[in-house]
Amino acid sequence: MKDESCLFCKILAGEIPSAKVYEDEYVFAFRDINPQAPVHVLVVPKEHIPCADAIDESNSLYVAKCFEAIAKIAKAEGLETGYRVINNCGEDGGQSVQHLHFHLIGGVKLSEKII
Ligand code: AMP
Repeated sequence: MKDESCLFCKILAGEIPSAKVYEDEYVFAFRDINPQAPVHVLVVPKEHIPCADAIDESNSLYVAKCFEAIAKIAKAEGLETGYRVINNCGEDGGQSVQHLHFHLIGGVKLSEKII
């Protein structure tokens, strides 16, 4: 289901251009417009799930498919020595686009580590 006001739904619909790196039935992935590392890909479910807090048994298949895609994209991007997957959720989590997405970041030794 599409949210007409959602930036990532517009990208999924092709209404806003993106640099696609992967697509399947459940998942779309594209390069972040403001990359924080040599590889910075946003992995997005094709269902409009607003945030991690909205994941439930009706939509969790999309989350599993996102992580299957992450493993494939990481291999395709040459991230064999590792990478980081980040999800920002809600205001305190710093989420700026209200459509669930996972940042896949790598291609460099990542230094800033919270946990
Ligand atoms: P977050 O702050 O976790 O919600 O992440 C949103 C991400 O979307 C940020 O890293 C932005 O740089 C990225 N972003 C915003 N607009 C676009 C766009 N049109 N194409 C690609 N990435 C975008």
